[in-house]
Amino acid sequence: MSGPVMVFIEQNEGKITDVSLELVSEARLLADKLGACVSGIAIGFELKNELEKPGHYGCDKIHYIEDRRLAHFTSVPYAKCMVNIIKKYEPSIVLYGATTTGRDIAPRIASELGCGLTADCTKLEIGSHKIKNKTYENTLLQIRPAFGGNIVATIVSPESFPSMATVREGVMKIAVPDTSKSVEITDEPCPLHDDDFLTEVIEIIRKEKNCNLKNAKIIVAAGMGASSSESLSNIKELAHVLGGEIGSSRPVVDAGLLEKDHQVGQTGVTVRPNLYIACGISGQIQHRAGMMESKRIIAINSDPDAPIFQIAHYGIVGDINEIIPKMIKAYHAL
Ligand SMILES: Cc1cc2nc3c(=O)[nH]c(=O)nc-3n(C[C@H](O)[C@H](O)[C@H](O)COP(=O)(O)OP(=O)(O)OC[C@H]3O[C@@H](n4cnc5c(N)ncnc54)[C@H](O)[C@@H]3O)c2cc1C
Repeated sequence: MSGPVMVFIEQNEGKITDVSLELVSEARLLADKLGACVSGIAIGFELKNELEKPGHYGCDKIHYIEDRRLAHFTSVPYAKCMVNIIKKYEPSIVLYGATTTGRDIAPRIASELGCGLTADCTKLEIGSHKIKNKTYENTLLQIRPAFGGNIVATIVSPESFPSMATVREGVMKIAVPDTSKSVEITDEPCPLHDDDFLTEVIEIIRKEKNCNLKNAKIIVAAGMGASSSESLSNIKELAHVLGGEIGSSRPVVDAGLLEKDHQVGQTGVTVRPNLYIACGISGQIQHRAGMMESKRIIAINSDPDAPIFQIAHYGIVGDINEIIPKMIKAYHAL
């Protein structure tokens, strides 16, 4: 039997982040294929009440390091705690959210352990991998777009342990929680000394997000074909009428027309709304990576050969500024 599939249970001001629950859900699927257990590593202060939650998503055990000085994330102490637990329990796989915290801590741990790390995976599988005459069974296949999204690469690290990967929020499907499931929580000793705490969090200043794409049921997204002020105002009106959020492609954000919070795609947010209306978006792989799991996709584009039509459930060929006002009018007439 292989070592556990571990998840770094990230917390933010005492609340477990959604990406950690998504990763636990994914870890459960991987562990079932390996015949292994799922364990989490939680680090913080007064988190006990929150720690039942990962159990509902398939986590079997949680190793918990509690210390008042660990209430807020700081790189060196958290990395040292993680390294300690990984060495002690020898997992086969460790997963991290590709958040600012995960992106900070995971490379430090990989460097300390001398193991591989694949950033921003979009898919994880268990499979075999052949190098020359040697076949590695039950290896973590870490799949992600590479070379600007022109290829999808499968990355393996079968000769260094554990295999480690980061995954962006919203990429892995969260399981339906089962509140009857419980998790075994083990208190672990804190391995830190005072001189491990090189920095101190004095104050956290939060900037409210302008939009919440991740939880939106309807998204009306603007691409470069809808970037004129007339088109953007039509898109804002349609989003308002439908009770949805405004999304966008990256060039629209790069041009300073919408804020980064609105960007959907490989380097933006990954979304799964009930309805995604792509307006004047060509449908390059980097954009599709963030929205192709939407339940229904309507694409509006003046080019009948635009790649977005390959994944759209409904396609409208035409000019945004003619079609959107008609959609708004039709909706009002209902
Ligand atoms: C490493 C990397 C990461 C990236 N990450 C992202 C990302 O996260 N998100 C993202 O979106 N992109 C990302 N990109 C950029 C991506 O490759 C594309 O360049 C981008 O998605 C194209 O945006 P667009 O569809 O709005 O513009 P365009 O490709 O210029 O398409 C505009 C479309 O509008 C149509 N059009 C024009 N006028 C009208 C009109 N009047 N009515 C209707 N249709 C019209 C055109 O036919 C065309 O299909 C990334 C690129 C790289 C290299």
